[in-house]
Amino acid sequence: MDGLKEIEGENIMMKKVRYIKGLGIEKIASTQEDHVIDRHQGIEHYKDIIYQCGKCGTCRTVFQDVNWARVCPSGELGKFEAYYLGGKNLLIWGLTSGKLKWTDNLAKIFYKCSLCLACTQQCQIPELHTYAGEWLMAMREDAVQNGFGPMLEQKQYAQYIDDLHNPYGEQHENRRAWFPSEITQNTSSKLAYFVGCTASYRENDIAVSTVKILNSLNIDFRILENESCCGSPVFMTGQTDKAKELAVSNVEMFKDEKIEKIITSCAGCYRALKEIYPKKFELKHGIEIIHLPEFISIKLKNGSLKFNNNINMKVTYHDPCHIGRHMGLYKEPRTVLENISGLELVEMDRNMHNAWCCGSGGGVRSAFKDLSEFSARERIDEALETNATAIVSSCPFCLNQFKTNIKNEEISVYDISQLIEKAI
Ligand code: SF4
Ligand code: SF4
Repeated sequence: MDGLKEIEGENIMMKKVRYIKGLGIEKIASTQEDHVIDRHQGIEHYKDIIYQCGKCGTCRTVFQDVNWARVCPSGELGKFEAYYLGGKNLLIWGLTSGKLKWTDNLAKIFYKCSLCLACTQQCQIPELHTYAGEWLMAMREDAVQNGFGPMLEQKQYAQYIDDLHNPYGEQHENRRAWFPSEITQNTSSKLAYFVGCTASYRENDIAVSTVKILNSLNIDFRILENESCCGSPVFMTGQTDKAKELAVSNVEMFKDEKIEKIITSCAGCYRALKEIYPKKFELKHGIEIIHLPEFISIKLKNGSLKFNNNINMKVTYHDPCHIGRHMGLYKEPRTVLENISGLELVEMDRNMHNAWCCGSGGGVRSAFKDLSEFSARERIDEALETNATAIVSSCPFCLNQFKTNIKNEEISVYDISQLIEKAI
């Protein structure tokens, strides 16, 4: 928060921190403390708060910073008020007051949104800032309950998860096929590396780098034999019953295996295990969940790790929505990158809570290719403007999205685990 003076003030009850910048205008930004608030209720719970939306349009652009740059991929592609948060709030008012009824087209508006929450960061009404992401989710649940959701492609991957324990339709027995033969796991370790489906089947380099990092740090770990989808893809598309089933069976497995700590390299899995399981499904598992860059940044800070190798590269960091806006992890990956000698980190104009979404989340990539590609294109162009030679992120889905959408541009893409492995 460069140039901003931090004070704690009026919104203490909502665990908000207000920032004051020039001109005497107050600005609200999310912090990790926001995430202690009970969340994930049904739409009825939020009905009265939604009425506070003044349809001012502030949620369309970055509030005050970077020349009020646009933040909402859904609205910028849709070019119609209904696709922005303010318009969606009006639709919710219509649906909850009985003035509107669910239709296929109405459901598509709620699904054609990556649930990136960039809009909520800009809204200056505290309750909307805090809860709007929750009612966008609740509307998907409502659409499913009324038979208008999820989208066809999202139903398909739910079926794959049912049959094969992953959304890609891959065979379960191949889930750990990437595992390097020279590395030994401790099959009785209480620490599990939760790989997730995308690193297991699509972005194996992340999984390989992560186990090599753990191995070189002499950390006893294991990958659970029956690891299965964390449930994030079905949760994010409103298929809550399915997501709950997965959460319950995963937590039972963790308990049976006596797991006390889980490291994950996936932003979606991290949020599912750490936030959705206890807060939405009330599964108070008591297991410590830690994201890889968070784990490494703690070691760097307490002096138990020092990187040995230089990486001479100019990179820009893309904040994955699931660990950034959804979970408040902005500093940790940057701490990791800043500790690598030779590596220069340059920021894109829209960064941290203002970051533009890569367009892979919220079920958008499977169901709305146009929105997904539009979003990725804009983020790649923004990265190119920094003159960085690589985009770095901390999420297998972001990595896969950038790899797919970078065409002939002179920029490469890495997951942070790959750089950590090189630097150690
Ligand atoms: S959600 Fe907030 S910023 Fe957006 S239109 Fe409503 S009051 Fe304005
Ligand atoms: S969550 Fe993201 S895509 Fe959806 S309305 Fe908000 S800013 Fe737009």
